[in-house]
Amino acid sequence: MHDETTNISQLKDCVDGFTKERKWGKHHTPKNLALSIAIEAAELMEHFQWDDLQSEDKEGIQNELADVMIYCLHFANVSGIDIAHAIEKKLKKLEKKYPAELFRSGKAGSKEFWEIKKAYRAKRETDIV
Ligand SMILES: [Mg+2]
Repeated sequence: MHDETTNISQLKDCVDGFTKERKWGKHHTPKNLALSIAIEAAELMEHFQWDDLQSEDKEGIQNELADVMIYCLHFANVSGIDIAHAIEKKLKKLEKKYPAELFRSGKAGSKEFWEIKKAYRAKRETDIV
């Protein structure tokens, strides 16, 4: 399998099949899966602990990233989340939070940028990003 030839639905099916074959479903509640995502993310971070340089253990990093992704895919399966739709929706929200034209124009961090951010934050109570 490779990124160029595998879609998210195929990955979700692989994770679903793997867990069903082992009858792990009863343990995989959204809460347990959310905790597992965080735990595996911490294992990924261990590769960079106390060092600003990237760890040289590429295989270990790859394994931990796979653990995070597997739990994310499984969480989406269990929670009925369409990942592509969720990402598309979130990116649209982030486009409003971080308008590209501000970054392209070099205005990031400027007074104008912070005014836009302030307006965004005021609106956030009804539309959390
Ligand atoms: Mg792990």
